[in-house]
Amino acid sequence: MTTLVTGGAGYIGSHTAKELARRGRKVVVLDNLSTGHRDFVRWGAFEEGDLADSVFLDRVFEKHGIDEVVHFAGFIAVGESVEKPDIYYRNNVSHTFTLLDAMVRHGVERIVFSSSASVYGEPETERLAEEHPLNPISPYAWSKRIIEQVLADYGTAYGLRSVSLRYFNAAGADPDAEVGERHRPETHLIPLVLEAAAGRRDCIKVFGTDYPTPDGTCLRDYIHVADLADAHVRALDHLADGRPSDVFNLGNGNGFSVREIIEVVREVTGLDVPVQEAPRRAGDTPALVSSPEKAGRVLGWHPQFEDVRSVVASAWNWHRRDWA
Ligand code: UDP
Repeated sequence: MTTLVTGGAGYIGSHTAKELARRGRKVVVLDNLSTGHRDFVRWGAFEEGDLADSVFLDRVFEKHGIDEVVHFAGFIAVGESVEKPDIYYRNNVSHTFTLLDAMVRHGVERIVFSSSASVYGEPETERLAEEHPLNPISPYAWSKRIIEQVLADYGTAYGLRSVSLRYFNAAGADPDAEVGERHRPETHLIPLVLEAAAGRRDCIKVFGTDYPTPDGTCLRDYIHVADLADAHVRALDHLADGRPSDVFNLGNGNGFSVREIIEVVREVTGLDVPVQEAPRRAGDTPALVSSPEKAGRVLGWHPQFEDVRSVVASAWNWHRRDWA
């Protein structure tokens, strides 16, 4: 079985490429390295190029005999998407059409898509289940919502089967520290707190301390990237077994506050973390916590890194190696 991994030089894509290879699939990574890293392509073949290039896609599908696709490639910064909706819709939506049309041309009928919990918008319930209404509030979230709908319509029209995976907060790193999180610039909480602990930045700014949460800071559901990788392989197996298109939340089902994460970093590293309280960040919602039961029931997916300490510890292990 040969799996095309678009965005396979990125954070979640590289961990998934490793897991696919470990479970015996042939991997082909497609990445234009605009945000991905060449040294993250360690498993399978590498095709450097752009999703927008349908001639290039035809060549990749023919050369490697692609059977199935995992589609990670895309931009991920919510704030930037508000400022530059054009590049988000072009990259995340238009270029996905180019990919889907190539799949249809080459008779490839199975795709797992990187969606996001941001498709839900403001939570109306404490934990978000897949039936929660979809109310995206940023161009980034809209781009994910739109592609979920496009996949459903391509299913009806062309027989394409898909699984959309709605990630909560991806965190942590490969337990072997062969790959990990490396965003430039970094905007995510856990790597930034680790940088503050290591003295690589002055402090961690806590965005908002007056939220209606137990300690006034935002709650998020941090899910280990290796657990995400496992879920992608299960989703591909689900489709390969002939089962129908579906949508799943991927989270641990537990919310941790910004202050709790900082405390966990202090425990794990044994280092002090200088903290500065700062105003709320635009677009942040007080709490975003999954109800992940459906992925457990249908895909048999049960996160192995349930303890947030183990998530932070794997990230710390990776970052120290990567900084060195
Ligand atoms: N956050 C923070 N300081 C930072 C970066 C993030 O207080 O320097 C908070 C942010 O407001 C949110 C949580 O940490 O409540 C997780 O943010 P992140 O950007 O990691 O992920 P998001 O939830 O936005 O996808």
